[in-house]
Amino acid sequence: MHATFPLGRPAGIRVGAHWSVLLIMALLAELLAQSLLPEAAPGQPAFVYWATGIAGAVVFLASLLAHELGHALVARHRGLAVDRITLWLLGGSTELPGEPPDPRTSFAVAVAGPLASLLAGGGFLGLGLLLPTAVPAVVIVTLTWLGWTNLVLAVFNLLPGSPLDGGRILQAVVWQRTADKRRAQAVAARSGNVLGLVLAGIGLVELLWFGSFAGVWLVGIGWFLGFSARAELATGPAREVLGRLRLSEVMTPHPETAPGWFTVRAFAEQAATRRFRTYPVVSFDGRPVGIVSLAALARVPAQARASTRVEDVCVKPPRCLVTGPDVPLTAILGRLGDRPGQDLALVVEDGALVGVVSPDDIARTLELAVLATDARPRVP
Ligand SMILES: [Zn+2]
Repeated sequence: MHATFPLGRPAGIRVGAHWSVLLIMALLAELLAQSLLPEAAPGQPAFVYWATGIAGAVVFLASLLAHELGHALVARHRGLAVDRITLWLLGGSTELPGEPPDPRTSFAVAVAGPLASLLAGGGFLGLGLLLPTAVPAVVIVTLTWLGWTNLVLAVFNLLPGSPLDGGRILQAVVWQRTADKRRAQAVAARSGNVLGLVLAGIGLVELLWFGSFAGVWLVGIGWFLGFSARAELATGPAREVLGRLRLSEVMTPHPETAPGWFTVRAFAEQAATRRFRTYPVVSFDGRPVGIVSLAALARVPAQARASTRVEDVCVKPPRCLVTGPDVPLTAILGRLGDRPGQDLALVVEDGALVGVVSPDDIARTLELAVLATDARPRVP
């Protein structure tokens, strides 16, 4: 999910939302304003229902965030790096670049989210019960709805199949019992695949037999669950190998560089005898400056090539990725691509360029990892 807009940095953790969150917010606000609130607390003007409905949808989004912050804060407390939180159509996801080192950590991180939802659910229900009767009925109804929705969210996430939290919990328990992480991952992923099929099946029955449109949601969620579980099953063994790799083991060391102080014309002559299309650019004193591609150099007008320096054309940080040799490979997976400035990551140690990582380096490492794990991924 790349098309996200930032929502701030609570507790120093980057939070973003995918545009599909707006859809779910609009649906929830409409559900509250058009049917739940008018039925449970009749006799109010429409703007009261809409204002309360929109407020309810916003608070629901905040409680989704609380669920993800539960995961993120426990992960950070246990010493794991937390990349960011993304909210989207089917809830949220917390990106952890590293893998939990032991089953206890894995269990604690997984259980923290549903626990946050349970607490939020209990809190909203309690508030709805304890508020004085002078409080408008629409507020009480919204609080009760928020309470039950959070409880349902907690229970749903505890279903025992990957990629749900319950799947991670199941995985941690099997890992603890068998001391075999890969087997535990496979058990949780298979369970997630079955769970996805069952949910999609129930959704279909609901839709076709009872004509209930809510079935579409279940089919969608079930399909997504099964799809993610099968993807985990297929990539699990390779991912485990990748999770242990540092960039120093993946990168191309001592890469060929482009001298930043050269003119475009002078470097073009040099590049004619070389084999690469993208180069790390270094300054006269050897410091890495950015990266430059032949395509970017070719865009410099011919009459300007004798007076333009490579340094002036190259893509500099933060648009180009600069990282360290001890960073896990998983931290930059998915961040290298075809966009200008992202065809190479510069690996820098003590201010000096020690290597580069290209999508090719990553693909090669992935293929070697799959070759090394002789077990072919099985899909039930
Ligand atoms: Zn969760």
